[in-house]
Amino acid sequence: MIVILKPEATESLVKDIVSQIESLGLQAHLSRGQFRTVIGVVGEEVKVDPEHLKSINGVEQVVPIMKPYKLASREFHKEDTVIEIACPQGGVVKVGGPHCVAIAGPCAAEDEAMVFQLAREVKQAGATVLRGGAYKPRTSPYSFQGHGEDALKWLRDAGRENNMPVITEVMDTRHVQIIEKYTDIFQIGARNMQNFNLLFEIGRTRKPVVLKRGLAGSISEWLMSAEYVLSQGNRQVILCERGIKTFEQSLRYTLDLSAVPVVKQLSHLPIIVDPSHAAGDRQYVPSLARAAIAAGADGVMVECHDNPAKAMCDGPQALLPDVFASLMKDLIAIAGVLRRSFSGAADSTSRQSAGAAMGHNVF
Ligand code: PEP
Ligand code: MN
Repeated sequence: MIVILKPEATESLVKDIVSQIESLGLQAHLSRGQFRTVIGVVGEEVKVDPEHLKSINGVEQVVPIMKPYKLASREFHKEDTVIEIACPQGGVVKVGGPHCVAIAGPCAAEDEAMVFQLAREVKQAGATVLRGGAYKPRTSPYSFQGHGEDALKWLRDAGRENNMPVITEVMDTRHVQIIEKYTDIFQIGARNMQNFNLLFEIGRTRKPVVLKRGLAGSISEWLMSAEYVLSQGNRQVILCERGIKTFEQSLRYTLDLSAVPVVKQLSHLPIIVDPSHAAGDRQYVPSLARAAIAAGADGVMVECHDNPAKAMCDGPQALLPDVFASLMKDLIAIAGVLRRSFSGAADSTSRQSAGAAMGHNVF
């Protein structure tokens, strides 16, 4: 259930209600909106008497949340959540609300030189977050599994050089600490959407997480997975639609773009789209990316490579950096029509003036 407080509710009243809830063995999660504070009560709700809560002076309303997920729901947090990711050399990348993000880089960090080269190219093209796999979830155990800690170091250093936060996939609870040390954002891959121990473990960190939708995960199951992370106190969850299995065989997966407006209606969390893994074929990636931003997604994550034919994984879906650069121009234009922007996506001079004109933070 959620307890909606009156706008004039004092800090000491908030504390008092929280301690009453906690003394019953339940969790109290605060959501502070522009005008009022909402307390999400999670746990065995039968232990709480809603009539008692309603009778407290300063409480406006007590509302049950019927959905199985609570903290991920719009009822709990009315406004869009905006997640701020610190850049290694200062500034932040914002995701959600009016802010779109462009994440780009190779499927796997193959060697130091390629990571640095691609990082420069995708940054120049307008990406603000660098992606790259260090531990790869491969369908075959004989396929390349990633360069592990070496790859994490290359990504961190290339991110520093270009002032880009870095995202990489975490597949195993045993890798959480080392990935946390080197990177800025955890990625939970499609195959791990329901790895509940991993979700709990990431929930105990305080780093942003991109949670991909499972290959056959429903939207409700996906939001329950987000709830696992949120329930541990990590509020920085970004959802990522990356295509699901359907009867359609033309492409690797079917990108479910309807998930974007549906998630926006059900949840306050930002949602981005990965058109690369959905299509599995580079010729379709730009159209899907454009459609994602047009549908209201809070950004895209795109795989790029300088020599896709030689890529160690996912070469057929990788965009050449110049194709990505021209795609970015379209995405910026489409976002503009929807009164949204990719912060930091233009060159430094136009970035400053465009950002200042829109009243957004720029870096
Ligand atoms: C990836 O981003 O490299 C990846 C493996 O994605 P997914 O989990 O969506 O298959
Ligand atoms: Mn990939």
